[in-house]
Amino acid sequence: MTLQAMPFVPGEVSGLLRHQLRDGESDCILLLHFEDLVPLESPPAGLIVIGGAPLSHPMTELQGLGIPTVIVSRRQAEELREGERLWIDGITGEIGRGEVPDPPVIAALGNTPGQPFHTADGGAVELRASITGEQGARDAHAVGATAVGMVRTEYLVPSHGRMPDQAFYEKAFNAICAAADPLPVTFRLLDISVDKKPTWLGEVSGMTGLLGMQGSRLFGTRPVSSLISAQAAALANVSRDFPLRVLVPYVASPEEFRHWRNRLRAWLPDRIPIGPMAETPAAALAMPEWQRIADFVSIGCNDLMQCFFGADRDIPDVAGYLDPYAPTLLRFLDRVARAADERGLERVQLCGLLMQMPGVLPILLGLGFRRFSMAPRLIPAMSRVLARTRLREAEQLAGTVLEAADSGSVRDLLGMAPETRPPTPWSQSG
Ligand code: PEP
Ligand code: MG
Repeated sequence: MTLQAMPFVPGEVSGLLRHQLRDGESDCILLLHFEDLVPLESPPAGLIVIGGAPLSHPMTELQGLGIPTVIVSRRQAEELREGERLWIDGITGEIGRGEVPDPPVIAALGNTPGQPFHTADGGAVELRASITGEQGARDAHAVGATAVGMVRTEYLVPSHGRMPDQAFYEKAFNAICAAADPLPVTFRLLDISVDKKPTWLGEVSGMTGLLGMQGSRLFGTRPVSSLISAQAAALANVSRDFPLRVLVPYVASPEEFRHWRNRLRAWLPDRIPIGPMAETPAAALAMPEWQRIADFVSIGCNDLMQCFFGADRDIPDVAGYLDPYAPTLLRFLDRVARAADERGLERVQLCGLLMQMPGVLPILLGLGFRRFSMAPRLIPAMSRVLARTRLREAEQLAGTVLEAADSGSVRDLLGMAPETRPPTPWSQSG
């Protein structure tokens, strides 16, 4: 038996399939429903998630753990039996019975932290790390990341759900920069949303649904406003010892960014570059404006895809709509890249899970993107994709997929198995 699941966190492991972890057993493969994802106290060797919404925050957090993970449909899960020995491959998405077939020899990365990676024909590409804390910074350094592309600072929380203050942030930011040193670190200011709501935050008007008040939209609201001041003051102090940059989350327009950039300059000295996180189609298309008023720009592909396809990234039933192979999405990103021009593109970083979907990184390279930020543990796998990719061929591939009539044709072009696509409501109907 080999089942084709959706790959999620790279790595190959074998182990006994369990629906629940037993005391002291850590070498098993845990099968659990997306709805049952909780912080794992003793991590299993591998994970199979049923009906996972790949772009959701609980799934993003899984990437930080680095446990090889694949996502299966409910129908596929019915074929898996408690106690049987399975292997999973988090890169190809395959699940089989028995031991991992011919475990490949993984070449050491050998990348010098802070330096770019290279394609087969010598093109320089930055693989940066998206992290949530000090351990992530250590991982980023260990895998030879080019930089820390994004610290999700909303995950930095004092114990007992206490509200963070400047002293807390200064200590946490310092520890991250020291662990990442000499990598430059980009801190994203507090990005709160309904699915990332801290315990200290009470009711906020308009903070409902995934398109309501969130990110920088909350910067003028108490008590978030005082936390943003605390973060900015802490960053100003930390920047005396470390190179860092500041990212303003969920910015929808140049006017909105200009407003917060000017406010932030009250704390942040000129040596700290400030950029917007463009996470809506409107913000992504504002490339000429970002070139004029921002020091850099980061495109958040998770939220961008949620807005673009009109499907909530947290709901597994609509995960199939968030289709990384849709020619319309790739044409949109092509438009964004063209709007940035070559010099502008040097300041654009792509974030989110899109780039790690099988076959997608070469397309993004072909469209002109060269800076990517991802979970540190994905960097070795992505660097191997780079080492197999030639830029000229990537451009040709991108040209072909932009002409494709539908997602199925793009998958065919990439040699993808149809099962790697999460089901859509219409494909489930009889
Ligand atoms: C994104 O939206 O792509 C992103 C990187 O931010 P987050 O996943 O934290 O919303
Ligand atoms: Mg986002």
